[in-house]
Amino acid sequence: MKTDCPLADIVTSKPRAILLAILSISCLFAFAGRAQAGATAAPGSSAPYLIIHLDAIPSKLFFEEYDAGRLPNIKAAFEDGKIVRHAVSPFFPGTEMLYPRLKNGLDVEAQMPITWEMYDRESGETTSHIQTILKLFSYLPRYSLTQIIHGAPGMDLLAGCALLNTPRMLDEYRIVEFFWFITDAYGHVFGEESQKKSIAILDEFFGLLLRQLGSKPVNLVLYADHGMSMFERDYDAEAAMSEIAGDNVEFLYYPNLHLRDPSLAQATAERLAARDELDFAFYRADESLIVGVHKNGQVMFRSEGGSISYSCNGPDPFGYFRLGYQGQPLSDQQWLDLTCKERFPAVPVQIVRYMDNPLSGDIVAVLNPPKALKTAVGIAGCHAGFADTDCVVGILMKGPDIDPSKIPDTFWLHRLHRDILEIDPGNPETARRERNSLMVSGGRIELQASPAHRWNGMLSAGSDGWTVTCERSLARSLITQIWTGLGITSGGEPAGSPTPVASSRLNFYLGPLVYEYKNLILLPSGKRISSSSLRVETKCGVIVEWSHPNRIGLGITW
Ligand SMILES: [Zn+2]
Repeated sequence: MKTDCPLADIVTSKPRAILLAILSISCLFAFAGRAQAGATAAPGSSAPYLIIHLDAIPSKLFFEEYDAGRLPNIKAAFEDGKIVRHAVSPFFPGTEMLYPRLKNGLDVEAQMPITWEMYDRESGETTSHIQTILKLFSYLPRYSLTQIIHGAPGMDLLAGCALLNTPRMLDEYRIVEFFWFITDAYGHVFGEESQKKSIAILDEFFGLLLRQLGSKPVNLVLYADHGMSMFERDYDAEAAMSEIAGDNVEFLYYPNLHLRDPSLAQATAERLAARDELDFAFYRADESLIVGVHKNGQVMFRSEGGSISYSCNGPDPFGYFRLGYQGQPLSDQQWLDLTCKERFPAVPVQIVRYMDNPLSGDIVAVLNPPKALKTAVGIAGCHAGFADTDCVVGILMKGPDIDPSKIPDTFWLHRLHRDILEIDPGNPETARRERNSLMVSGGRIELQASPAHRWNGMLSAGSDGWTVTCERSLARSLITQIWTGLGITSGGEPAGSPTPVASSRLNFYLGPLVYEYKNLILLPSGKRISSSSLRVETKCGVIVEWSHPNRIGLGITW
């Protein structure tokens, strides 16, 4: 089921071409130099990380575009880095499952979201969809929260502009996360062609980003969080689960079915597996054995220590025995090594680890593509199974602290930060201070000196008087920043006498361009003095500023 995406066409048309042309020129002017992201860091120093999250792009689709040369900037940046084509996102594939674990370095069994709505048998508490969304957002860096808006269809240009501002963030944080959420909505609603267009837009902005970064040493990481499977028909799996379990339903939200009487799990699973709406119904037969019922037989996963063995009654639906598997216990990584390129990668690990989570149901029911789960918005794509298009993703890495020879060709995605990169994005180091600057403009001198991160001291002096303020950054996103402060100015009554003043500044960032709207309010009188300016910050630290209506300034930043 595929539909055309008018919004994707809009963002690939004239406005985008004009914007990209302007940005290309300004980036060239301001940051002339060949793209060399990933260049060598100074000895003993550690380069910052820029981690780009690409939502819901299966490895197959990504590398179709990459290998065909349709992502030239991404390819140029990562070509001699590490390209992992078969990382596997843990079942149940979704951002709510993956991101909290990736961010916090936690395993699948951790009591984090395992789908959007959950039931805790221990406490009897349920978690609603909105609670899970809020929990997920609570793990995003605060500066990234506005990127949730950039995830709506048609927001590619805004998301691209936000990407161009990540170099500023790299001055502030050792680890910067950027989210290209929009491809999830495109995949669900419009299908993979619109996803491809969106990745191409990401690639163009990524090219501009590389120009901005120039030779700055940065560790670049690009990963997709889970896949997306296109489908022809969707099925109401939850209705089938509810119908089969009847009065015995304690709590139901795909893929989990909690029963009032868990001893009926086997009988319920057998009846569920016979339904067209589902492919598998898994239940726990004993402490170490999970059985999965399907229409033609059963699969068995037995946990032994940290390993899992697989056997089946009837046909082998995953094709593992064809690969030479002989029924021996394998570790989670060994399962990946054996099956990561198959249609159903590492299913024993996917299901056992999922059902080891205390929030999982007495039955975990699964449908796989080409079937899809019936949802309100999923009319073209879905990610609800354990097939490769649901779970296998690409990861690209390059940088001075990334040694390609030490990174395996397949690994579990949620272990990327903890085990592969050995970083902790939950606790990124911040810069000790903001950038200082000195500007001369129309007979005025303006000095900004920062004592600490998010704090600024400002002195403005000229023939018409002086102002001193101390400012605090109130809110920061990738595109905007709001400062407020208090100070003193010589503009009081009688003329020239000192008077207290409140200040506010709103900055809009677009690559090397900064638009600033500034207000000074004389506190006793409430008189407001507003000004606006546009400046270009060059890589070597020179600032050229135009202030409304006709003042030109020059300055330096350090
Ligand atoms: Zn999705």
